[in-house]
Amino acid sequence: MKKSDNSFLPKFSHIYVESAALDYPLAYDCFDRFPKAEVVEVPDYKSIFNRPNQDFQTQKQSMKLILAVKKPPFIYKGTDILQDGGFKNFYYNTPILNCLYNCDYCFLQGMYPSANLVVFVNQDDMQKSVEDEMVKRPFPEDPMMLSISYNTDLLAFENILPMTRAWIDFAKQHPELQLEVRTKSALFSAIDEMVPTDQVLLAWTLSPEKVVKANELNTPPLTKRLAAVRSAMEKGWKVRICFDPVMIYSGWESDYKALIDKVISTLEGDQIFDATVGVFRMGQDYFNRIRKSSPESNVYYQQFENADGVVTVTQSERLAVTHFMKESLSGFIPVEKIHFWD
Ligand code: SF4
Repeated sequence: MKKSDNSFLPKFSHIYVESAALDYPLAYDCFDRFPKAEVVEVPDYKSIFNRPNQDFQTQKQSMKLILAVKKPPFIYKGTDILQDGGFKNFYYNTPILNCLYNCDYCFLQGMYPSANLVVFVNQDDMQKSVEDEMVKRPFPEDPMMLSISYNTDLLAFENILPMTRAWIDFAKQHPELQLEVRTKSALFSAIDEMVPTDQVLLAWTLSPEKVVKANELNTPPLTKRLAAVRSAMEKGWKVRICFDPVMIYSGWESDYKALIDKVISTLEGDQIFDATVGVFRMGQDYFNRIRKSSPESNVYYQQFENADGVVTVTQSERLAVTHFMKESLSGFIPVEKIHFWD
């Protein structure tokens, strides 16, 4: 395993491990990776993860690693908030809960009581479940699309545990399975010697440098992400670029125009598989939970509207983003290859 981009590698002072997880090789890979961490055995990971009165952002400053055995369900049907990118049989799973990064607009802060990272060591059970669901998928003539990086950034974790690699190897054994690996990381280098496959869509979220700095804490800068995208495309991987969320603030148009100009000058448009565009959106209950914790980010104090239980920007702002992105990307990516969230 290459460990070429250790720019954000947490120290993990403690690893909490469920007794049942001690039977799995992934647990020992973690112990090897963090030999100085204090290992604490616990009967059930939820006794740590779901403790009351935890403060997400305080914990983010010193995340702990939790190793657990996932219980069913191992796979979930896609949600309205998650873009399906045109795939009819759209699912996601959760190899890891929580993320090394700390985007202020991230729903994980409202979803989980803890910022600690949970790695599920029984990836085999998840894969078995994917095989079972594959034969039951509602549109059998279409492949099954599985997002493996929904509640985390799995590729960002690749220099800790090679889990993306394992899922890609799994997909290669199942021609009817497609994977989406959504990421902000620059860690393509960790999988760049793998033989590319059309079954895997590497999906990079790209944001103006100003948004990276202001809203996407601990993530690699835009230039590094773009370099990773370029390398992946040059090696023959299928790449999706995601402008999601497009953040709206005074002057957003000029920043996003500069971003798109940079994308156009760095990447070959005709080699991009497709693009997605979205705006800030979050389930009302998660949003309320985050607001209650008095977050420092001004994201949570803006004027939003509730669209069927989803907190999002106003309809006129959504239309403005759609129009702006269509115009800016025109001539680079055909409009039928751009998926808009609304
Ligand atoms: S990279 Fe994705 S999962 Fe991670 S904190 Fe940012 S939005 Fe959340």
